Amino acid sequence: MKNSLAVIETPRYNQNDRPIHVHTCVPLPGDDFLRHEWECDSAYCQSVRRKCPGHGGKLPRSLDD
Ligand SMILES: [Zn+2]
Ligand SMILES: [Zn+2]
Repeated sequence: MKNSLAVIETPRYNQNDRPIHVHTCVPLPGDDFLRHEWECDSAYCQSVRRKCPGHGGKLPRSLDD
């Protein structure tokens, strides 16, 4: 079957024509009070759990800017 290697489609959201995804930021491990989600449009993220830039995380890499 030629289509057996189908590309997995990821949901897309209309924001600058880029797909965005949601990370979970956990500034202090085990502290659910500070936990929150944040949106990101980098194409290079591999992990859902990631500190947001506002909590000392690295800025996500952007495609071209
Ligand atoms: Zn990301
Ligand atoms: Zn955060």
